[in-house]
Amino acid sequence: MLILVINSGSSSLKYTLFRMEDEAVLFAGAIDRIGQDGARHSFRDAANHEVEKEAYAPDHGAALDEVFATLLAGPLTSLSDLDAVAHRVGHGGKYREAARVNPDVISEIRRMTPLIPLHHPAMIREIEECMIRMPQAVHVAVFDTWFHWSIPDEAAIYGLPWHYFSDRGYRRTGFHGNSHAYVAEKAADRLGRPLGELKLITCHLGNGASVCAIDRGRSVDTSLGMTSVEGLMMGTRAGDVDPGLIPVIMKEDSLSPDEMISMLYRDSGLLGVSGVSRDMREIEAAAAGGNDRARLALDAFCYKVKRYAGAMLMVLGGCDALVFTGGIGSNSPTVRAKVLASTEMLGFVIDAEKNARARTSPDNQVEDISAKSSVIKILVIETFEELMMARQCRKVVGTKK
Ligand code: AMP
Repeated sequence: MLILVINSGSSSLKYTLFRMEDEAVLFAGAIDRIGQDGARHSFRDAANHEVEKEAYAPDHGAALDEVFATLLAGPLTSLSDLDAVAHRVGHGGKYREAARVNPDVISEIRRMTPLIPLHHPAMIREIEECMIRMPQAVHVAVFDTWFHWSIPDEAAIYGLPWHYFSDRGYRRTGFHGNSHAYVAEKAADRLGRPLGELKLITCHLGNGASVCAIDRGRSVDTSLGMTSVEGLMMGTRAGDVDPGLIPVIMKEDSLSPDEMISMLYRDSGLLGVSGVSRDMREIEAAAAGGNDRARLALDAFCYKVKRYAGAMLMVLGGCDALVFTGGIGSNSPTVRAKVLASTEMLGFVIDAEKNARARTSPDNQVEDISAKSSVIKILVIETFEELMMARQCRKVVGTKK
């Protein structure tokens, strides 16, 4: 069974071709700067040859044409070789599991767009363009929210008037479900124990970021909420802000709801605080060079991860391992050390040398950075959301074909 996984952002499109019998990656690539000057296409074939070239990608449709032409010049003889296409979608609304795309699924994704304003428009565009080009294929929407439906009501409810929960269904749905679920499985492998016995705290720290408490394989709480802005400070998203402050700012600065949304999602977080960048590498470099705002952004980012990880430790009543993943979690020894500084009494002791040396990659997905004296294991794990998506997609294809 061949499954193509597509993960599209507002100006990017990542894709991975899997052979599901052995979960082998046959081909993987990404197109960046869609709709801008100088779009680039980079890809890696099964023999690990890396190629980077210019791409004609004025929009997502053209980017898909480029992807399909590349696949047809490589691992596929015809697009009908594909058994299914798995599309990443942020919020599944009423859909609790991956679903075969049909008009109802599309309209539910559209209904959820105000909650995920940065990502859903591009995701919908990508699905529609892909279905035009491959009308005969099975298309499956895989939602980031699926993993968090196990969060109990007391953790999911917001303290708003009752009807928002009972009639409108407003509750914490969380995101990054494929990543949290994947690294939890990998952590269990590494610890040599069944996932069904473990308590885990997983910290997905990338451009988007969330912490998750996982009790015996089930998500029981997470820092992201019903929209993709709650919780940790992110690249350009604010994370927690006193909700009472939002209408005050709107009145003071005469902001419309759309302008406020844009501020919370695009102008805040690491970028808003540092004034330097949304990119943690640039913030770390600026902080090291003496930029006070960059240092504050770095410290605040780490502090909030520490605060949420601490909350999750109480929720779980202790844990077996804490996992760092995502672009920042996997690559920044500085962030990992700051998050777990002064937590020895709680059972976390980082080995400074292992932390500095840890390098994860697709071939070396797990590094243990805990000191011998650490009661709780501290792991760095390279996430692989695409594989989790392919597995979800296989389930749907298996039942509907
Ligand atoms: P993601 O959204 O998971 O791709 O993660 C993107 C984030 O990871 C950006 O903020 C990058 O700056 C950050 N990142 C990637 N490599 C490093 C690194 N070596 N050190 C610190 N941050 C990194």
